[in-house]
Amino acid sequence: MSTKEEIPRLFGTNGIRGVPNEDLTVEFSSDIGKAAAAFFDSPVIAIGRDTRITGDMITYAVVSGVLSTGTNVIDLGVLPTPALQYYCKVNELYGIVITASHNPPQFNGIKCVDKDGTELERTREEEIEKIYHYRKFKKASWENIGIYSRASGAIENYIKGVLSHVDVEKIKERKLRVAFDAGNGAAFFSTPSMLSALGCSITTLNANPDGKFTSRNSEPKPENLTDLINLMKMGKFDLGIAHDGDADRAVFIDETGKFIDGDKSLTLITKRAAKRGEKVVTPISSSDAIDEVCRELGSVLIRTKVGAPIVSRTMIKEKALIGGEENGGIIYGKHQYCRDGAMAAALVLDLMAKERKKVSNLLKEIPDYSIVKSQVHLKKKWEEIKPSVIDYVSGRKTDEMDGIKVIEKDGWALIRPSGTEPIVRVYGQSKDYEKAKKLNREFVELIEKIQS
Ligand code: MG
Repeated sequence: MSTKEEIPRLFGTNGIRGVPNEDLTVEFSSDIGKAAAAFFDSPVIAIGRDTRITGDMITYAVVSGVLSTGTNVIDLGVLPTPALQYYCKVNELYGIVITASHNPPQFNGIKCVDKDGTELERTREEEIEKIYHYRKFKKASWENIGIYSRASGAIENYIKGVLSHVDVEKIKERKLRVAFDAGNGAAFFSTPSMLSALGCSITTLNANPDGKFTSRNSEPKPENLTDLINLMKMGKFDLGIAHDGDADRAVFIDETGKFIDGDKSLTLITKRAAKRGEKVVTPISSSDAIDEVCRELGSVLIRTKVGAPIVSRTMIKEKALIGGEENGGIIYGKHQYCRDGAMAAALVLDLMAKERKKVSNLLKEIPDYSIVKSQVHLKKKWEEIKPSVIDYVSGRKTDEMDGIKVIEKDGWALIRPSGTEPIVRVYGQSKDYEKAKKLNREFVELIEKIQS
């Protein structure tokens, strides 16, 4: 029996996303709790959430579903996604996190975490979808209903874990001045705590857990970080740090107020952390700077499809130490196999302290590539557009691992449908900014023309 097409997909690239009381209802959330508990088949599940105002509603709906199956719940409250993942890893527990990451405030989401702290593999999510679809839930009798409890200390232990991978004393000596924009997100408490443990003097922006994200859009892009950038331009800080809503990503601003692209911070950390013969993992969407750096180091670079869980799982399989995405998602294997915003920030501070250099000077030592990114709204299905794109690029060198990558001698373009929204992402990449822009424009115009 072929059931694959019959079962609607619920989990996107990064969990289930939706608008509470529209598609993400109490009933649905509770059923996902039941399905996850049936799949995990474990005595206890840890749960946590970001700061969104709908977090209570979705959390308690999921908790009710889990408890109804006879599984106990440990509630960790509001914390960064990587802090929950660390708790799961250390305690060997399955986890559920209620977050929509960087999405606008009206969204929320449900993401499942494996016992090793890494996001569930797609094949395991499909098992949960099957249980949900066929309603193969477990129902405990009243005396066997699960027990709900709260645990404290998850954030403190997570910070300890992060700090164990950097030279705390050396960073303290430097007394670095840091401006941190929490964007009302899940790390409003944890990242300032970590920075103060590192002896930094800290100025925070938006470090209040306002679940409507009234201060700024939670995607850490330059256009959303103008307050932090302007603050950095005053010249009174060594580093600016910002996270997305659930703080698994970190982006940086240099001491002059210049936004550092996530691709550059990934390349910088790779250059300093990877060693000869070691493996580094990144999706096809990161720039060729990381290829250059790995070649120089004698490290082996493995390219994957786009999606942090895919990068994490590949890192585990290949025993890689460093991996990540071009959007500020950095995975440091010695700590845990998932994106971790606080770990990324600690690694950058560690570099600045050890090398006694300004962050802008550290960046001068890595190859300078530009990625120009756009998105085009999908009016048709990607499957309908794809053949025309393939037709258009016939005779040119391509890679179809994920979307379509058109490779030229001095750059590439990547055309790829989003896993969560009805858009096509178009990337142009080159050492020459004009060339990157040209490649980007060529394919944005093509997609628009095909759809018109
Ligand atoms: Mg996130």
